[in-house]
Amino acid sequence: MHAAPSPSRASIDQALRERSQVVIPGGMWGHQRAAAVPAGFPQFFMSGNGATVRDVDGRDYIDFMCSWGPIILGHRHPGVEEAVRRQLELGECFDGPTENAVVLAETLVGMIPHASWALFQKNGSDAMTSCVTIARAFTGRRKVLVAKDAYHGAVPWCSPSLVGVTSEDRAHIIHFTFNDTRSLEAAAAQAGDDLAAVIVSGFKHDIGRTQELPEPEFAKAARALCDQAGAALIVDDVRAGFRLDLGGSWELTGVRPDLSAYSKAIANGHALSAVAGNDRFREAAARIFVTGSFWYGGAAMAASIATLNELKRLEAPRFLKRAGTRFANGLREQAQRHGFQLNISGPPAMPVMLFEDDPDAAIGEIFCLEALKRGVYLHHRHNMFLSLAHTDEVIDRALDGTEGAFAALAGRR
Ligand code: PMP
Repeated sequence: MHAAPSPSRASIDQALRERSQVVIPGGMWGHQRAAAVPAGFPQFFMSGNGATVRDVDGRDYIDFMCSWGPIILGHRHPGVEEAVRRQLELGECFDGPTENAVVLAETLVGMIPHASWALFQKNGSDAMTSCVTIARAFTGRRKVLVAKDAYHGAVPWCSPSLVGVTSEDRAHIIHFTFNDTRSLEAAAAQAGDDLAAVIVSGFKHDIGRTQELPEPEFAKAARALCDQAGAALIVDDVRAGFRLDLGGSWELTGVRPDLSAYSKAIANGHALSAVAGNDRFREAAARIFVTGSFWYGGAAMAASIATLNELKRLEAPRFLKRAGTRFANGLREQAQRHGFQLNISGPPAMPVMLFEDDPDAAIGEIFCLEALKRGVYLHHRHNMFLSLAHTDEVIDRALDGTEGAFAALAGRR
């Protein structure tokens, strides 16, 4: 781990922030926009290796964000990177897909019990939009039920921001409360005979909130409601996919969706997403037109095949649960010892860490800044992500850092 840089050294991060303000609107876009990255958090990164990322100023951090989800085997996993290199030597972008498209679809169909086919895109937003389009093509209907505050992407039908979005873009979206069967039924009643789909996340992973796994009763009710209406049950597994269950996060509820969307961890950091579906929706999936210039590229698919095979071999969900439990237990014990009430919720592989009586996460932010100084990259509001590079030794080293961060936080009281 690198020592903190001397104060006299100019920060490359700061210089890049100033330059980006000139040529990138707002300094950066989306969830990385400059205003959303707290002061003291690095904005620009240089490299990654295993469980560690290095910022542009050369400081290393044990990474508990894993690139906001994509890194599941660790940064620059040798087997995945070798598969990518082999494909790049042959070329990346041809007049059509490579063999990898078929091998990857076969791999997913073999892994995901509800799936008998798969289609590929680049981002989670593409995959979710494809799911909605397939559901509408299949049903010939318009209304889509979406859980309040759930994130499904950065396109007009689901963006968390209404800036530049028209009411027509949202005209057929009806909200319900996750895990609340009555509210789901009320939303379905509002849709009447125009119900195309119900969308649920792998679990309720809203930012800044206590996380909730899907209740089996709610999951069953959602399935029954879709069956009765002839609508599609869509699981957005973009964020949680492959971390909780290799067959899809709702396998844990015993309920299977018609369509599911994956991205993030699917190719260990390479740009890829997928829609997986059952036979009922095959014909509609063949009929819709969704595509992109780069959706057939072979390298990310090669990365995905290598990633998924490694996840199976290593029984990833079991490993991640164990690693996340070790980390959460350590944090809880430290918090208690230093007199803080820490609420860690969500599955251990994707924990959210919130301090009690900290509605705007100001205490959490200071804690994360203290952890950064000690070489640990955490998040104070968003769910974090464990990877297979988070061995016991790495977790314990991270806990050494957080111990210092709690002591520093306690010292400020
Ligand atoms: N669905 C969920 C649950 C997500 O977490 C995200 C990304 N954070 C998306 C969809 C959209 O994915 P992308 O950013 O790759 O478009």
